[in-house]
Amino acid sequence: MKIACIGAGYVGGPTMAMVALKCPDIEVVVVDINEERINAWNSDKLPIYEPGLFEVVKEARGRNLFFSTDTKKHIGEADIVFVSVNTPTKSTGIGAGKAADLTYWEGAARLIASVSTSSKIVVEKSTVPVKTAEAIGKVLQRNCATPGVEFEILSNPEFLAEGTAIEDLRHPDRVLIGGADTVSGRKAIETLASVYAHWIPRERILTANLWSAELAKLTANAFLAQRISSINAISALCEATGADVQQVAHAIGTDSRIGPKFLNASVGFGGSCFQKDILNLSYVCESVGLKEVAEYWYQVVSMNDYQKQRFVERIISAMFNTVSKKKIAIYGFAFKKDTGDTRETPAIDVCKGLIRDGAKCSIYDPEVTPEQIFRDLSAPKFEWDRPNYSRSASHMLENVQVAPDATAAAEGAHAICILTEWDAFKAYDYQALYDKMHKPAFIFDGRNILDHAKLRETGFIVYALGKPLDP
Ligand code: NAD
Repeated sequence: MKIACIGAGYVGGPTMAMVALKCPDIEVVVVDINEERINAWNSDKLPIYEPGLFEVVKEARGRNLFFSTDTKKHIGEADIVFVSVNTPTKSTGIGAGKAADLTYWEGAARLIASVSTSSKIVVEKSTVPVKTAEAIGKVLQRNCATPGVEFEILSNPEFLAEGTAIEDLRHPDRVLIGGADTVSGRKAIETLASVYAHWIPRERILTANLWSAELAKLTANAFLAQRISSINAISALCEATGADVQQVAHAIGTDSRIGPKFLNASVGFGGSCFQKDILNLSYVCESVGLKEVAEYWYQVVSMNDYQKQRFVERIISAMFNTVSKKKIAIYGFAFKKDTGDTRETPAIDVCKGLIRDGAKCSIYDPEVTPEQIFRDLSAPKFEWDRPNYSRSASHMLENVQVAPDATAAAEGAHAICILTEWDAFKAYDYQALYDKMHKPAFIFDGRNILDHAKLRETGFIVYALGKPLDP
């Protein structure tokens, strides 16, 4: 059997590396139009950072795992084609939701159809709106010139989380495969299930109809993001009342109906998926006439924006109502720990908010490059703002410095803001950092990872999300 995967990104690369590692009898080729990315996958400096990924790639690469830009050859030869291309949010649209941009998906489908001389299973790995398989089916069938070639479409959404991708792929809570309830559909489901069964217990391989599987992925992300927005909403109330959000979270998390996970108050969720998938879910709801349901889900995104803005306002008000000309050390730019991914990271909105009020941000993140930071801070929030954005972009960049380490970032700073929960940040010598800073020195812990009592003893004025304020 030969598997090809279109898209060598955060999902395509790690998932196929795991398939290849666990299925030595299957040839797995990941193809991409981005030559630089493919070259990096073939090198010792992989294009993405994920704990444990390098070891998996190293073991399988060259044995039965390959990365290539020769899309036509490998797709043409494959029995199963995974499609793991990006499905970003469209920049146009009215109402709460925003449609997923399926340009890349349609491009991939046309490519598969044009090079197929044998029947194939086509697997939706990307997160797509419910009913995408119907549209893709038409593109595939009507663009394939070879008579007798059939395409069976399966939905196999990916539930991995960045930062824990390898562990998630090795021991997934479940694998979901959606397909048509026909003889050929059931056969295709069984073929894909037999691939996963190389290392995943059968009872964890769930099957569903196509539309349920497509919708389950959007629903999972909406529920996860909703939990974050819910606890963040409570964090605002805690600050206003003297309650402590960690105590509240612990108290409710011990209720087995609620559970303890995803209850950390934070400066907001980020990443390429949560916001995009909720906007997409809202859009789907609107498009079938469910305006109230669309608005319900949209609130999760609104609450996230509010939390980021609230954090910025809290910093400014604590620092005597101005951060003008003040240096602020930003610890962490990635959207969460153990990844170098900065897509939709809350750090973008926080840094921009501070710079707009006159601050100078000195940013340190162990896995994010200066190029990523400058790119993210010079880009408009929305594509459609781009024409009016150039002045604002240069203003942002003049006030950003990327520090080589945490000490350099804190040197001469008035405040430290923790924006990513990197474990290394907990182990710093905050007394030494305090000594290098302007006084009063502030710490704004946007992830609640530090020992606040100890920091106060050191002399810092501490603001922690959802916690009682300093007297
Ligand atoms: P990504 O942007 O990192 O990777 C997508 C890759 O597809 C890019 O390298 C791009 O060059 C390539 N591509 C696009 N069109 C192509 C074509 N016609 N031929 C060959 N290559 C092509 O995206 P990602 O983060 O890997 O996400 C992929 C999908 O998986 C998205 O739908 C996303 O929502 C979903 N997803 C992402 C995560 C995550 O944590 N990142 C988790 C679960 C699901």
